[in-house]
Amino acid sequence: MNELYDIIIAMETSGLKISAGHLYPKQLNLYGDMGNIITLKRRCEWRGIEFEYNEINMNDKIPVCDLYFIGGGQDKEQIDVSKSMYLQKDFLIEQRDNDAVFLGICGGYQLFGHYYQPFDGEKLLGVSLLDAYTVAGKKRFIGNVTAHTDFLTPETLVGFENHSGLTYLQNDTKPLAVVSTGNGNNGKDKTEGARYKNVFGTYLHGSLLPKNPHLADYLISLALEKRYGEKIQLAKLNDEIEYNAHNSVLDKAY
Ligand code: GLN
Repeated sequence: MNELYDIIIAMETSGLKISAGHLYPKQLNLYGDMGNIITLKRRCEWRGIEFEYNEINMNDKIPVCDLYFIGGGQDKEQIDVSKSMYLQKDFLIEQRDNDAVFLGICGGYQLFGHYYQPFDGEKLLGVSLLDAYTVAGKKRFIGNVTAHTDFLTPETLVGFENHSGLTYLQNDTKPLAVVSTGNGNNGKDKTEGARYKNVFGTYLHGSLLPKNPHLADYLISLALEKRYGEKIQLAKLNDEIEYNAHNSVLDKAY
């Protein structure tokens, strides 16, 4: 019965579309973060949903999209991206307030806040999509992370962290999840990542979404709702392989 139900749902989403803007992939794409875009694209196409991909490079005018993605990178690459993206800060805040979905990983996540202060050198200005800031610490956090959300089923997110930046959330910016293994935002307050409106930031590389299909579908649903103005149900996919990968690293020793 469920299979027939899913076929009907898939028929309903067939022909829908989401537009995606990939921010600065030539500079910020550490540890296979491109895998997040591939996952979103495939999980849309498996349901007959068109995934329009827009690569946004240095000095490009950022287009209006339903969903934006930015990966992680070394401090050096973040300097260039900060200079280019900051010039379009007001446009990005306008998209956030129009319910566009944003996913930022590590270095990209840090630039979604107000600033990232590397260990030495100039402060990098962020675009303030999140009320947060980051300062580089002396220690580099490297290893597996398991964190618990209050909005996903299953509640867990798994990934890999490699950062020296310590991120502190302010006011309405809530954590994406609470860490049970690993360090997360700063290794002190047990928070991992951040969420405000439809903006999501996280330190989880891996890449994140292939091992966390429930988050991928959550983001696709939000992007469809933004584009069509209503909640649209997604047909279930066979995620046995994805959850085998997810469960294989759950609370894995750091
Ligand atoms: N350069 C930043 C840091 O070290 C981000 C690193 C990353 O994107 N993995 O915190």
